[in-house]
Amino acid sequence: MCRAGQRTMGQIFHGSRISNIEITDTLFGGYLTLVAEKIVPYQWNILNGKVAGAKISHCMENFRIAAGEREGQHSGVVFGDTDAYKWLETVAYCIANGKGAGLEPLADTLIELIGRAQESDGYLNTYYTIDHPSEKWTNLAEGHELYNAGHLIEAAVAYYRATGKTALLDIAVKCADLICRIFGADGEKPDGCPGHPEIELALIKLRDATQNDAYLGMARHFVRVRGASPNYLLDELERLADNRIFPEFVDYDAKYAQTHLPPVEQTSAEGHAVRAMYLYSAMADLAAVCEDADLAAACAVLWDNVTRKKMYITGGIGASAYLERFTADYDLPNDRMYCESCASVGLMMFGQRMASLTGKAAFYDEVERALCNTVLGGVAMTGDRYFYVNPLEVWPPNCLPSTSMAHVKPVRQKWFDVACCPTNIARTLASLGQYIYAENDEALYVNMLISSRILTELNGGTLTVTVDSTFMRDGRVNISVSSDRPQKIRVRIPRYFANPHFASSVAFPEPGADGYTELSAPGGTHTFCLQGEVTPAFFASNEQVRADAGRLALVMGPYVYCLEEADNGGNLANIFVKPETEIEVGRSCEDIPGSLPLLHFGGERVTKAIEEDGDLYGTPLFRRTGTRLTAVPYGLWNNRTPGEMTVWLKALL
Ligand SMILES: [Zn+2]
Repeated sequence: MCRAGQRTMGQIFHGSRISNIEITDTLFGGYLTLVAEKIVPYQWNILNGKVAGAKISHCMENFRIAAGEREGQHSGVVFGDTDAYKWLETVAYCIANGKGAGLEPLADTLIELIGRAQESDGYLNTYYTIDHPSEKWTNLAEGHELYNAGHLIEAAVAYYRATGKTALLDIAVKCADLICRIFGADGEKPDGCPGHPEIELALIKLRDATQNDAYLGMARHFVRVRGASPNYLLDELERLADNRIFPEFVDYDAKYAQTHLPPVEQTSAEGHAVRAMYLYSAMADLAAVCEDADLAAACAVLWDNVTRKKMYITGGIGASAYLERFTADYDLPNDRMYCESCASVGLMMFGQRMASLTGKAAFYDEVERALCNTVLGGVAMTGDRYFYVNPLEVWPPNCLPSTSMAHVKPVRQKWFDVACCPTNIARTLASLGQYIYAENDEALYVNMLISSRILTELNGGTLTVTVDSTFMRDGRVNISVSSDRPQKIRVRIPRYFANPHFASSVAFPEPGADGYTELSAPGGTHTFCLQGEVTPAFFASNEQVRADAGRLALVMGPYVYCLEEADNGGNLANIFVKPETEIEVGRSCEDIPGSLPLLHFGGERVTKAIEEDGDLYGTPLFRRTGTRLTAVPYGLWNNRTPGEMTVWLKALL
């Protein structure tokens, strides 16, 4: 039973407050500064339609029209309001990080506008308010009203926590209260569920901020009625017939929106990858808060299916561009996949919640994989270009419009018609602290070995933990603890951190079954000098992954590496590498942020494949020459001269 009213009950730990954390890491600290100083101002200009040559966002204009301050019709996608909400959420985290004071007046101006666009009963959605007021709540499958409300709520909770201001929280509460009046277990109310999950996890956050259990009940209701028979969303689409928002989605089926079964009975990740991640995240939250063992078991099965059969080595998910969805187990094509940035953000969210639910560190292996590769790869070092789709193999000439490759862009874009990813990447990077640290009554948890500092209160005392991490260079991580009483620090030892020990002769406490090593700080100031071995290595994939058969990927620490044309010339498909090839850890490249090392190794390049010059096919020759190759972290690719890129290399067996 869900024992509502007890905060975070059942959770082994929960994320730390971002305002207590400072990220000092060269790479990630740089990105946090980039978010506050470049990305947020850039996205503000985009949302106000002020960036020349970019896809036009009508986001702010829609709010002005809905507020009655401008004449006009709604423009852009039905979920465009969420760009503003995620922008506000990012600003909130920047403020919490101590980097966003200058942004607060701008955010307050936007919050006032959003307030004016809200209807008197709490309804807030510019698409319906402006052009379709009589059709509210009639198209949950496509209308995204609940999805929009979810992002409003997430922004409101973040802004309230960062600033203590309640204006946006009041707007969100008014909207959430309306949703609670319209939907619910009452037999008089519709049994609808959102076409795109998001409101569920947001309502759980709102309950945490307000202590109003009605929001938890509402979240639980939306998960409970999902997948019920008859299928509410499919019935709705049938009723709508010619009045659909996305008539081109003729293949909208029950799996697409994860309504093929009740969530608790789902065993395989299906449908639209972002929707799936947001749903599973809410399920994990509910499993923890409500101590729901069945839901927890379903989450564990779904997590395994995603990460053991449907996830790219880069932490990308969603193999099919068509309907942006999961496909068969082990179907992981490298050049025409989807791997939406938002889906990897969602994987981070799901993994964080699974770690919180179970207390097991291993979930962070995949959180870190998604963060360090696909999420980082989604944004340029300049902050003003983004990937929506994250390929593992690019040959720019075949990324052609009006083909099956139309969705794959060989360079990052200024903006998109559907622009969910840029603001999602920004809010995730800005909130990184909550992924690094977590707490419960017993210990502080360090989930990722990223240089940073946290000042918090634990066991009635104050505690400062400083992580100084250079493991990608020398395998070292110094963890300094200052406390006014004995404290426990539980540190995730990642699977790539081999032979962990203390630099001194003090015995190293072996990680427990949960994957955490427990450091006992006696009080005062104490430094634990962790030493491990982080070395580059080639990885292969399970033999069921057809796309990677006979291929190798280079990995060092949490970073997957790739070859770029800028270093290695073109036609990367003709490069072969022996699995036993020695890999040299080189210097970092000054053109690429973060001072991560480049990796160098020898390979062979096919210079003439067939005997007959100029023919398309012929007698095999496979003449090869030795070549020296340079690999860069995938998360930082495409920050120099654009060109070919590949993660997987052909093995010379
Ligand atoms: Zn997206």
